[in-house]
Amino acid sequence: MPDVLKAVEALSPSFAGRLILPSHADYHDARALHNGMIDKKPALVAQCRGAADAADAVALARSLGLDIAVRGGGHNVAGRASVDNGVVVDLSLMRSVMVDPLAKRAWVGGGALWRDFNKETQLYGLASTGGVVSSTGVAGLTLGGGFGWLMPKYGMALDNLRAVKLVLADSSVVRATRDDHPDLFWAVRGGGGNFGVAASFEFNLHDVGPMVVGGLVAHPIDRAKDVLKFFRDHTQTLSDDVFMVAALITAPDGNKAIGLAAVHSGSLSDGEKALKPVKGFGSPVLDVMGPMPYSAANMMLDESFPKGGRCYWKSNFMSTLSDAAIDTLVDQFMHNPSPLCGIVLEYFHGAATRVPVDATAYALRDQGFNVLINSQWLDKADDAKGTSWCRTTHQSLQPFVGARRYMNYYSDDDMTDAGLASAYGPNLPKLRTIKKKYDPQNLFHLNANITPA
Ligand SMILES: Cc1cc2nc3c(=O)[nH]c(=O)nc-3n(C[C@H](O)[C@H](O)[C@H](O)COP(=O)(O)OP(=O)(O)OC[C@H]3O[C@@H](n4cnc5c(N)ncnc54)[C@H](O)[C@@H]3O)c2cc1C
Repeated sequence: MPDVLKAVEALSPSFAGRLILPSHADYHDARALHNGMIDKKPALVAQCRGAADAADAVALARSLGLDIAVRGGGHNVAGRASVDNGVVVDLSLMRSVMVDPLAKRAWVGGGALWRDFNKETQLYGLASTGGVVSSTGVAGLTLGGGFGWLMPKYGMALDNLRAVKLVLADSSVVRATRDDHPDLFWAVRGGGGNFGVAASFEFNLHDVGPMVVGGLVAHPIDRAKDVLKFFRDHTQTLSDDVFMVAALITAPDGNKAIGLAAVHSGSLSDGEKALKPVKGFGSPVLDVMGPMPYSAANMMLDESFPKGGRCYWKSNFMSTLSDAAIDTLVDQFMHNPSPLCGIVLEYFHGAATRVPVDATAYALRDQGFNVLINSQWLDKADDAKGTSWCRTTHQSLQPFVGARRYMNYYSDDDMTDAGLASAYGPNLPKLRTIKKKYDPQNLFHLNANITPA
């Protein structure tokens, strides 16, 4: 592609980051994403060092008429952080996290991971809602919602944003806040990568830890239905201090199991009291729930999601968890094709669910169970089995699910008009109007794409 070569040569002297062409020794590492099924071959990976680099990379792609993909942490299962024959605006070199402990604020680079965020903020016993797996990107997770252990107490990740610095489609750079570009600030809090490249974020922080009570208990699979009924009933009693998850999994010894994971974000004595019923239910075969560093709580699930694992996900939201839904979940889990497959139920409640649906673009403000069918395997030969189990399980759950779905869990084939309606509901028309104002040519379309009004 001679045009790309020429454009890269022209840009090189002023570009602070790395411009990686297919001939470069690091090209294959640079194009790899978390999901090993994604095998796209971009014309250029532009690894930026700041907003100015990102503005240049966007201008280069625009001038050559190439598609733009934006990469934060590279974790999204849909794989739209890369593109065949286009330009990846890759922020993975922009991982700085600066903390003002007195003002309780953090300034975070657009390529930072949650482990970067937690490490710097926990130095001061501070935190904000982030993902439960430490290798996930701050950017993609926050722009699409962002739940985690602190969600019931402090809302979604995006509810804690004060500002986002964005490179727009015309390569101009703006800071969106409640006062500056308020329409854009509303739209990026849920609208994903539709409105520009988020070069940096400014977050509110809260006192958390550094020690909290949390962890995991597990029961044999033959107790799964009773444990899920306990989970359903116990979640109705939780205070805002506790976020809790149930997961049908295969243990490292090869036995199927049901796990309950929880974190209490208040004092240790309150945490011990609050999680006592979880530890006391039935006869767990594993109990690693107790005092632990908050940053360790955010890494305890990391090993279940190996980089390069082949992933195909589907999710839905259930406001109630009926006995029939529990039977279906357990029965379907028993047929999964790989020990890396799981079904995860995340109980959404508290502060995040008290925000009005129209306060931000993000629209999943219901209380209830976010159900993720996490199909994952290692061998390419198992692709058909892995995707088919996920689809069949998803289909079998349809009698129990509601209209709303969590966009950040979408696979590529969920990014349809129906998928957009499920993610944004009544906020979609306003999003399309704001898209028309800031990206009328739909330059940023490799995402759950909101087309301009
Ligand atoms: C193992 C695993 C665990 C997860 N755990 C959680 C969890 O606990 N809570 C939760 O809410 N979600 C979770 N998710 C889902 C997660 O929120 C999404 O996958 C999210 O998109 C990941 O963000 P990223 O920056 O790593 O993604 P990327 O793949 O880099 O980006 C995904 C999309 O976001 C947009 N984007 C990314 N960075 C930028 C940027 N700087 N500017 C503009 N647009 C950008 C682009 O459209 C891009 O296609 C998890 C996913 C995985 C794979």
